[in-house]
Amino acid sequence: MTVKLFAFTCGTVTGEFARLMEGGEGDITVPIPVFLIEHPKGRALFDTGLHPDCQHDPVGRLGPRLAELFRIGFRPGEEVSARLEAIDRDPGKIDLVINSHFHFDHVGGNALIPNATMLVQRREWDAGMDPDTAARRGFNPRDFGLAINCAWSMAITTCSPTARLPTHGHTPRRRSLRLRLDSGEVVLAADACYFCQTLRERRLPRNMHDREAMLASLDRLEALERGGARIFFGHDPEFWQTVPQAPVPIA
Ligand SMILES: [Zn+2]
Repeated sequence: MTVKLFAFTCGTVTGEFARLMEGGEGDITVPIPVFLIEHPKGRALFDTGLHPDCQHDPVGRLGPRLAELFRIGFRPGEEVSARLEAIDRDPGKIDLVINSHFHFDHVGGNALIPNATMLVQRREWDAGMDPDTAARRGFNPRDFGLAINCAWSMAITTCSPTARLPTHGHTPRRRSLRLRLDSGEVVLAADACYFCQTLRERRLPRNMHDREAMLASLDRLEALERGGARIFFGHDPEFWQTVPQAPVPIA
């Protein structure tokens, strides 16, 4: 079965580099990636980017703390629904939204995908539903609380077009995604690994849920890479320049 993979850049975020990677200097502008997976059995998105309100009112959407930490670069036409429409894909005909985790730059566009089933790790959902944990982790329940259908990953693994890969540490329960393309295996690491340097030099972000778990996730990613998989880093601007953008598929 042929799986097609497309990448979209749904805006950028600029913030202090050292916050995202130990030893980073100055500020860094990172891409916000969204992936479309087309499988003979259906269409899925891996993450959905920012909420469209971030285009005109980031403080109102994200709150003053996050809006101060991160400057949002996000124009009309860059939201996930517009990106899909630009390549003639109907946002209403996406079957599955797979959220790697609940941070605002991964789940905000869920609101634009009306008919999909949302797929998230159970523990991440529980963390998001608990007001204290959500606030501590910087989750915004408005991003994901409207889930029309929500499936726990355990239940759906067997019928999912893709294979899950738990890579915890960044948040309580986050996932990367393994895909088998004609050209070989691809791992969409999301925030288990922001940058290429994160993997090569084990330079972790400043804030994380569990340092040991994140290091173990990186070991797992490295083992997959040694086995021939291509790792797609979560927010690496240099790496991202090498990724073909839709409508060109990732071969
Ligand atoms: Zn992120």
